[in-house]
Amino acid sequence: MKTLKIPEATIIRLSVYSRYLTEVDRKGIVTISSGEIAEGVGVSPAQVRKDLAYFGEFGTRGVGYNVKDLRRHILKILGLSVDWSVTLVGLGNLGLALSTYKGFRERGFIITSIFDNDPEKVGTKINGVEVLPLENLVEVVKQNRTQIGIITVPSAAAQDIADMMVKAGVQAILNFAPVVLNVPAEIELRNVDLAVNLEVLTFNIGAQRF
Ligand code: NAD
Repeated sequence: MKTLKIPEATIIRLSVYSRYLTEVDRKGIVTISSGEIAEGVGVSPAQVRKDLAYFGEFGTRGVGYNVKDLRRHILKILGLSVDWSVTLVGLGNLGLALSTYKGFRERGFIITSIFDNDPEKVGTKINGVEVLPLENLVEVVKQNRTQIGIITVPSAAAQDIADMMVKAGVQAILNFAPVVLNVPAEIELRNVDLAVNLEVLTFNIGAQRF
């Protein structure tokens, strides 16, 4: 994906298109035009065509796209035609919400291990996955060949957890702790901060006012 230099905004829209196509497919609709996709997700038809054009020609002029084929193709582009093994560390409020979210599994993100350092939580099960103590992290994550780590521990613990994940061989980390993490360049690191998104919203509301 990196070598193709696809803009990140395109990748995000592809994810939105694929979810919309899943809905359309469930309704039994066989073909769809770029205009219909655009209307369904709220972008311009030209934008849809431009995004899809990054990946070569799909669809037939005047007929549109075969819904199943296009969905399959986008999922493949997004790397979602295979399952991904995910580990989650920190089973607090956020960790519990994420690890019980059904949408991840539907999209091929399988939480294969969960870790916490609270003895009350260790040994409990979330969707059949046993919560394990941190001491087991490196070994279990290695064994499962887990590619993605999710960090939902307090900030003070996040770097240690990231280091353990890297040692265990994860390729990507999704970090929810509000702290800057140091990881080797080859690790894909993504920080999620909902407060930043809220601030963008308030900035935009403010901009409309003044
Ligand atoms: P929480 O206190 O409910 O949960 C933290 C969990 O981590 C607990 O289960 C605790 O036992 C565990 N933990 C603590 N230290 C640990 C360690 N060293 N190893 C393993 N487990 C450990 O907190 P929360 O509300 O779920 O928030 C978790 C993190 O996510 C915090 O860093 C918080 O700031 C962040 N957060 C981010 C967003 C966002 O938008 N990115 C939103 C909410 C929370």
